[in-house]
Amino acid sequence: MSVISCILTEHDLRLVLLAAFVALSGSWVAFGLFRRAGEKLGTQRHGWTFLAAVAAGASVWCAHFIAMLAFDVRAPISFDPLLTMASLVIAIAGCGAGFHIALRGRSTSLVEVGGAIIGLAIAAMHYAGMMAYRIDGLVEWSAGYVAASVAMSVVFATLAVHQAVHRPSTYAQHAALGLFVLAVLSLHFTGMTALTITPWVTGVAVAEPEILMAIAIAVAGVSLIIAGTGVATYIIDTKATEDMTERLHHLAHNDILTGLPNRTRLADHLGREIARANIDGSRVAVIGIDLDRFKEINDLRGLQAGDTALRIIGQRLNQLLRDGEFVARAGGDEFAAVKRFREQSELLDFIARLEGVLFTPIHLGDFQAVTGASLGVAVYPEDGDTQERLMSNADLAMYRAIADVTRTTCFYEAHMEEASRARHTLAQDLRLAIERNQLELHYQVQTSVASGEICGYEALLRWRHPVHGMVPPSEFIPIAEETGAILSIGEWVLRTACREAAGWNIPHKVAVNLSPVQFANADLARVVHEVLLQTDLSPSRLELELTESTIIADKARTLHILRQLKALGVTIAIDDFGTGNSSLSTLRDFPFDKIKLDRSFMNEVEHSQQAKAVVRAVLSLGKTLEIKVLAEGVETDQQLVILRSEGCDEAQGYLLGRPQPIVHLVHSAKSVASGKPAEVAGATIAPKRTKRQKAG
Ligand code: C2E
Ligand code: MG
Ligand code: MG
Repeated sequence: MSVISCILTEHDLRLVLLAAFVALSGSWVAFGLFRRAGEKLGTQRHGWTFLAAVAAGASVWCAHFIAMLAFDVRAPISFDPLLTMASLVIAIAGCGAGFHIALRGRSTSLVEVGGAIIGLAIAAMHYAGMMAYRIDGLVEWSAGYVAASVAMSVVFATLAVHQAVHRPSTYAQHAALGLFVLAVLSLHFTGMTALTITPWVTGVAVAEPEILMAIAIAVAGVSLIIAGTGVATYIIDTKATEDMTERLHHLAHNDILTGLPNRTRLADHLGREIARANIDGSRVAVIGIDLDRFKEINDLRGLQAGDTALRIIGQRLNQLLRDGEFVARAGGDEFAAVKRFREQSELLDFIARLEGVLFTPIHLGDFQAVTGASLGVAVYPEDGDTQERLMSNADLAMYRAIADVTRTTCFYEAHMEEASRARHTLAQDLRLAIERNQLELHYQVQTSVASGEICGYEALLRWRHPVHGMVPPSEFIPIAEETGAILSIGEWVLRTACREAAGWNIPHKVAVNLSPVQFANADLARVVHEVLLQTDLSPSRLELELTESTIIADKARTLHILRQLKALGVTIAIDDFGTGNSSLSTLRDFPFDKIKLDRSFMNEVEHSQQAKAVVRAVLSLGKTLEIKVLAEGVETDQQLVILRSEGCDEAQGYLLGRPQPIVHLVHSAKSVASGKPAEVAGATIAPKRTKRQKAG
């Protein structure tokens, strides 16, 4: 019997090279998948680990199988199918366990443990495969070589996984791949060297070389299909991730509704334009745009119509852009534009085009709307040397344009900043006004037009500022509304007016103005109820005044709150009537007790037939709907005569009495005897004497 070791023929060499190729390509795919697993979390990571394990295990197994075919033992051989399958399962399961453990303990020595498990698994796979390899001869093993093969497999696989997990560089990834293939090859060839076979019958070929080659190619094909599946999955995932990243990037930089760039991109763009201007000496304008009547579309036509309008405006703005022009949606009904220019005329042309688009009617079904807009312009470098300053100065100019009904576009001027700073300081002072006792109420009489009798008093808020003196409500109430201070201030007014009215000798009504912001606060009915209880004022003596803008803000909600208030027994007046937009429908839908005709009509009623016609129409409307009408701002006898002849119910104005502090009204009460008309009013609200006064 002769001893046969491994002798490589030309045919065997091809098989060995094929095995090496299978091992290399499979490992390359497996480590790519393993890297991807490391980038994922949770279930995704398990999925990628599984793919990596299948690619690694299957390719190592296939490489081993092909290399076995190259092993010319010159003796009849057969394979145990069960053990052969078991060796494949060992390879895949072992690689899976190793990869999983290595990723779990990424910053610990578990990485190396995972690598060692993989090394052991492929060694186990090799020797299980060898046991499945039945040879007709005497098989002897050299324990030293076996031990060396296992040790090399474990060491190289451990180093490979260590490189793959700890070192992100491409070099390290290549090193990992090389080490892993080294683990596979060294295991195989050292393992085979451990083997000495003495065939019982010599000179018998295992099989025809062509058959062996066909089997080897089939096995290699399967291995490559598995690797290919891994590669395809990798590519699909990479593409999907790229698409998602691109979508997220788009979402992060664009407004969803209009598709226009958003604030983030606006800031980026402006930064770039400023940098460019610094180099080439051009100028950059930032234009803040606020739609004037957008809210109306939302209120009258619903949010969907509002969205459509914004989309149409966005599209139109986008279409007008030329080189060096940029437009973004800044949020809500605000847009912003940027224009790079050299000549002022270029900027003016851009603004004219913007205005043209913003004042073009929008068709929403059967409804046509023109939103109009207010534009504020600030120019780099003269109006601000940084991006932030420029944007905030454009905003300041825009607020100026919003406030000025005669101008659509305002250019930034230095004093705007001072005005805004002053406003800011005033807002801070206002927060402390209540606790520092700077607020007080003045009362203005309301009288019957027919009899001249007093019907009630309107409480009007005054702020005695320590530095600025008396600040008119038209100046500080909008600030209080913006900052939310109106909630506590409004409650203070309500409580003070009710408390003072409860002390009057004659139970006249007291009217208190409510801000839309107070209506937006769901607690309003509860607050009114509480104040009435605390001050002991009969609800029928309290009248609450609100303007149409309050109702338009949220019709359903306001109606609900109004019903709650009426249920308390208080009356409701609509203030400044005739200045809003939907006066008729407002009156039809809401349970008002009084219409207060805006004082602008009184200014003109003496001279303008149209104003007189409006007054007459409102009076007849009041009669039809059985709502009392009060004319505000009556300053002359002539106006009173007209009101009387037209049948107006009540009047209020400087002619009948100016707003005054309650003490003044009390003092003037003393001069009732002198017969001055205004003082008669004062007499009626002389406070009740307190118990102590009576005792005194
Ligand atoms: P309003 O409720 O329409 O109050 C009537 C305003 O017209 C008062 O101005 C009053 O002084 C003024 N006025 C009365 N008679 C005449 C007249 O014959 N001619 C002229 N030219 N003006 C007259 P005031 O006190 O400056 O208040 C302005 C506005 O501030 C009020 O308009 C009201 O909307 C608001 N306001 C005042 N007090 C409060 C308050 O406590 N809460 C809230 N939310 N708003 C208040
Ligand atoms: Mg009022
Ligand atoms: Mg009014």
